[in-house]
Amino acid sequence: MTVSTASLPEKPAGAGARPFVAIEDVHKSYRLGDTTIHAIRGVTLALHPGEFTALVGPSGSGKSTLLNLAGALDTPDQGRVVIDGHDVAALDDNRRSRLRNARIGFVFQSFNLVPVLNVLENVELPLLAGDAGRPAARRERVMQALSDVGLADYARHLPDRLSGGQRQRVAIARALVTEPLLIIADEPTANLDSGTTHRIIDLLLDLNARRGATFLFSTHDEKLMSRVTRILRLVDGVLA
Ligand code: ADP
Repeated sequence: MTVSTASLPEKPAGAGARPFVAIEDVHKSYRLGDTTIHAIRGVTLALHPGEFTALVGPSGSGKSTLLNLAGALDTPDQGRVVIDGHDVAALDDNRRSRLRNARIGFVFQSFNLVPVLNVLENVELPLLAGDAGRPAARRERVMQALSDVGLADYARHLPDRLSGGQRQRVAIARALVTEPLLIIADEPTANLDSGTTHRIIDLLLDLNARRGATFLFSTHDEKLMSRVTRILRLVDGVLA
């Protein structure tokens, strides 16, 4: 289903005509006992194809909530989230998960690798959910993704034999293996030391340049902001 994005902000120079993700006056609250927490309070933004955007804000400002909405992991209470022309709230669970599997790769702060699977098997997991062809073709895609993150020699290692930075590279390879158009990374460097953090950001920037996918990542690390051209600041659920 195609929906109008006419009321959204102007696209930046050089970006494609239609945003890949359009978030339009979105609100999201959580109920906690008798209290309502207004996590996102009227956010409008557009992510254009190939853009690399950092979402910056203190803990509790709503970054994860906004990333979950931008990645169709959740739906807004009010407003609209349109991903690749699809109004997320209008999709049933099945179609929403198909949209995620086909279009979006996720990287999380805690890596979320399966400890009993080796690196190759972890990266292969998203391909098993879809129609990824014969095992040999799948393995080829996995090895390409591992090579893209510099870990081709570690395919048979278990995650607990790797450093934190290497584990996050595996998680990035797993996010890339389906060749998504959007990569969402929620504080991907929060558990890493500063040297490793800079190497992971370099890797994300390099992948963005080589693959042309849209990247949205969150951080509360002010030092990382000098590395990216587009920064959105979230304060108490609104963009500053
Ligand atoms: P950030 O990622 O910037 O730390 P979050 O989006 O995780 O911010 O949280 C925004 C606000 O919403 C916080 O006050 C947080 O406690 C609250 N919150 C987030 N998820 C839930 C939830 N599942 N239930 C209740 N409150 C939540």
